[in-house]
Amino acid sequence: MKKSIIIALDLGTTGNRAIAYSKDGAVLASQYEEFAQHFPQPGWVEHDAEEIWHSTKTVLNGVLDKVGAENVAALGITNQRETTVIWDKNTGKPIHNAIVWQCRRTADRCRALSAHADTIKTKTGLFLDAYFSATKIEWLLDNVAGAQDAAENGELLFGTIDTWILWNLTHKRVHATDVSNASRTMVFNIHSREWDDDLLSLFNVPKAILPEVNATDAHFGDVVAESGIHTTQPIPVQAVIGDQQAALFAQCGFATDQIKNTYGTGLFVMANSGSLPVSTDRLVSTIGWDINHVVNYALEGSVFIGGSLIQWLRDELGIIMSAHESDSLAKSVTSNGGVVVVPALTGLGAPHWDPTARGTILGLTRGSTKAHLARASLESLAYQTRDVIDAIKAAIPQEFTTLKVDGGASENSFLMQFQADLLTMNIQKPAATESTALGAAMIAGMSAGIWSEEKIRATQTLSTTYTPIYNPEMEAHYSRWKRAVERAKNWDI
Ligand code: ADP
Repeated sequence: MKKSIIIALDLGTTGNRAIAYSKDGAVLASQYEEFAQHFPQPGWVEHDAEEIWHSTKTVLNGVLDKVGAENVAALGITNQRETTVIWDKNTGKPIHNAIVWQCRRTADRCRALSAHADTIKTKTGLFLDAYFSATKIEWLLDNVAGAQDAAENGELLFGTIDTWILWNLTHKRVHATDVSNASRTMVFNIHSREWDDDLLSLFNVPKAILPEVNATDAHFGDVVAESGIHTTQPIPVQAVIGDQQAALFAQCGFATDQIKNTYGTGLFVMANSGSLPVSTDRLVSTIGWDINHVVNYALEGSVFIGGSLIQWLRDELGIIMSAHESDSLAKSVTSNGGVVVVPALTGLGAPHWDPTARGTILGLTRGSTKAHLARASLESLAYQTRDVIDAIKAAIPQEFTTLKVDGGASENSFLMQFQADLLTMNIQKPAATESTALGAAMIAGMSAGIWSEEKIRATQTLSTTYTPIYNPEMEAHYSRWKRAVERAKNWDI
């Protein structure tokens, strides 16, 4: 049998998944494993990088055992972005837990560097924020005894999760990343597409620890049996791409009039901006991918609290038993009863960027019920999405008619219809909900020369389309939301 199976490794924030796809894009096997989240202090989030490697091995071996490694043509990696690992090149041991993208430990350091914010935005397309890798690298080198010296002496390596796993899969042979992941580190110049010497010296990061930066569809190296993977022959790694960029590719491909939103823990709205980075002061400009020698940029609005607001209703308030129940509860009332929820539980991300904002519930009356609260919570996901899409529309002169959606909360039909009505755009949800994994598999399959983008797209059927229904009161609702956002801002000062 000719090798034709493509494997995607989706290394997420809560767990790792391996999926094997047939040459027609059908799922042949899939395995998922969660790993532990560590919260050593309020606002701090860490992962054990070795646990991530062990769990990656488990899910990959599980899938290879089912489909046979000898039938696999290529593997693609997609990953949680920005999360920072530094390890010893000789022992292979991380010097500390990985610092996760959500971790706020370097927020004060970012404030202290505010004089450099404009330079950083110009060079990297990013806001000076603890979200990105640069201050996490700096923190590790400063706080782990001897780390700065060891880094200067070339004994340590840095990587985001893609790089860490690639290094392990190739049994320490390959230390590399791709441009989409590099563009999230805040030390990578998105114009020259090189590590930026000025920023490296600003954050005191020695060049010796940095990975080589490849195109997204490069041949990164080979997965080998020595690394503990169940294969008798090398498996080429033909794609590496950050998770949101992978979802954008799966949903929209190369088209530049397309926009997607992932309704996961947070909300990640992304639009292709074509061959040049677009500059705006409200959104992040980032590299989408470099495929077939063509670099594609993207505009991104990251909203910190999305589906996790529904988790909060379930776990902290206890007003629903499951996330799914929020759908029927919201539909059990005909309106939000005047209640507006601003889910600024960890501050506000795009397009407001106010770390001092805090969660706010307005408009409560004696008649307010948990159904109103559930409905207002779901509506807040739609309002936050509109805030970002309006900012994207102001920056990119494109007529966006359809929003492509994925992620856990895109299963919520109340939310999706409300979103369509609020945006007056069609909402399209694909049948293949694992957009992230599919995106990495598509790029790896194309790079290995056995898939074409058109062919895979033809096999992906749309599952649901929501068309907007005119609601004469919608704009009044949206203006009330905007007033509520102003009240949530400037709180924790
Ligand atoms: P991530 O990849 O960020 O872990 P997922 O895409 O798996 O996130 O989505 C999980 C999130 O979606 C959770 O925060 C959960 O509360 C939310 N969610 C899942 N199903 C629903 C639903 N039917 N309605 C609203 N939110 C939901």
